[in-house]
Amino acid sequence: MSTDVIVIGAGLSGLACALTLRDSGLEPLVLEASDVVGGRLRTDRREGFRLDRGFQVLQTWYPEARRFLDYERLDLRPFYPGALIRTQGRLHRVSDIWRRPLRLPEMLGSPIGTLTDKLRLLGLRRRCLKGDLESLYGRPEQTALERLRALGFSERMIERFFKPFFSGVFFDPDLAVSSRTFEFVFRAFALGDTALPALGMGEIPAQLAARLPQERVRVGCRVARVQEREVITQSGERLNARAIVIATEGRETARLLGEPQPSASASRGTTCLYFGARQPPIAGPFLILNGEGRGYINSLLCPSNLSNHYAPPGYSLIAVNIQGADHNPDALETHVRGELKGWLGHQVREWRRLAVYRIPHALPAQGPPVFYPGNRELRRSHWLWTCGEYRTAPSIQWALHSGRRAGVEIAQSLFGKPVAHTLGNPHPVIE
Ligand SMILES: Cc1cc2nc3c(=O)[nH]c(=O)nc-3n(C[C@H](O)[C@H](O)[C@H](O)COP(=O)(O)OP(=O)(O)OC[C@H]3O[C@@H](n4cnc5c(N)ncnc54)[C@H](O)[C@@H]3O)c2cc1C
Repeated sequence: MSTDVIVIGAGLSGLACALTLRDSGLEPLVLEASDVVGGRLRTDRREGFRLDRGFQVLQTWYPEARRFLDYERLDLRPFYPGALIRTQGRLHRVSDIWRRPLRLPEMLGSPIGTLTDKLRLLGLRRRCLKGDLESLYGRPEQTALERLRALGFSERMIERFFKPFFSGVFFDPDLAVSSRTFEFVFRAFALGDTALPALGMGEIPAQLAARLPQERVRVGCRVARVQEREVITQSGERLNARAIVIATEGRETARLLGEPQPSASASRGTTCLYFGARQPPIAGPFLILNGEGRGYINSLLCPSNLSNHYAPPGYSLIAVNIQGADHNPDALETHVRGELKGWLGHQVREWRRLAVYRIPHALPAQGPPVFYPGNRELRRSHWLWTCGEYRTAPSIQWALHSGRRAGVEIAQSLFGKPVAHTLGNPHPVIE
């Protein structure tokens, strides 16, 4: 079997790179250390439940997701556009009034922020939707928290809405992420649905991998070293190709390149506690956020309210998300149950713990400076490329984008291949 390009890692970036190379008539070989493709996007099956490895969602607006994925076949199940926020002992609904205009009176009357805050949301939305992505990433930069304060949002709005919502996106309770990253993500929430595939987030990489011939993706194959146009696997096998792409997570990319490891503070961790219950604690496709300003819980949701494939018949799946990853699982469960009892009453006693996912390097820290990920140099030498989050932005959008970009560059510069503009996806790409 001849191989033009070896791609190390079958996360979204590696799979997007391999698909782009094949689209250009080249033969990539993907080497994946784990037993399944997907990298950070995986869904485990346990006792009839589907457990995503940490709470994550697909934002359907992502231009690259629309380019690569067949949304219909993913059978996407959208969340309610907004959230339920627990504050002062009660739940309050916050809605995206562009998609739920009838909720305007409720929004205006809610204690989540002042009336002026709600008007300021209009300005923030306008700002986040203006211009193309490159210009968005070129704006003057500060932290997200500084930007929200500069725009005049009240501390109440920041504590009750922005912090619980966006700290769950960036795993950064202080909103110290770049205002550019924040505005990009705000745009994604404003312009599309936030959804789960009916069979779990792992369906996203599975759909991409299914378009590659089986023999072109080798799982259970860890690459130990990379040298000129050659990779050496952990089992000692040597494989050659004209180009090599490292599409691993940032820390592993640094190791394979022989570069210093990023410090511990360069990444953000998260923990997801799964419970099984006979009854869901809430009805509907809601994300519940902790806007109390204290406690362990960041958010809670019932994936089985969105898709009944997430739980066996007669059961519900509950996911509770917590900041950080260095918790003792048993102690954490005790704390979380105590907190949940205050929220939901004694029903919590009947819940059964299914799993605790602790993910220490879930995302890189995204404090300033952050630059437009589409301009980041991916080529490392005449035969070596990197893609994925290494020194650039994470997310489904940017993982797919960097993988595609690496594939296009290799096909054009090394093999002189023309690259098709689309990958056979009917969804138009609108930025
Ligand atoms: C809990 C959590 C929640 C998230 N939420 C969201 C969200 O809601 N929306 C969003 O857009 N993004 C989210 N993200 C980020 C998004 O999942 C990632 O940015 C994206 O999946 C990264 O893809 P990747 O291909 O760059 O890297 P990875 O997914 O890390 O893939 C790298 C692959 O390389 C393999 N590998 C590593 N070393 C080797 C080796 N030596 N040899 C062979 N293979 C190797 C790994 O096994 C892995 O499969 C979240 C991430 C996490 C962890």
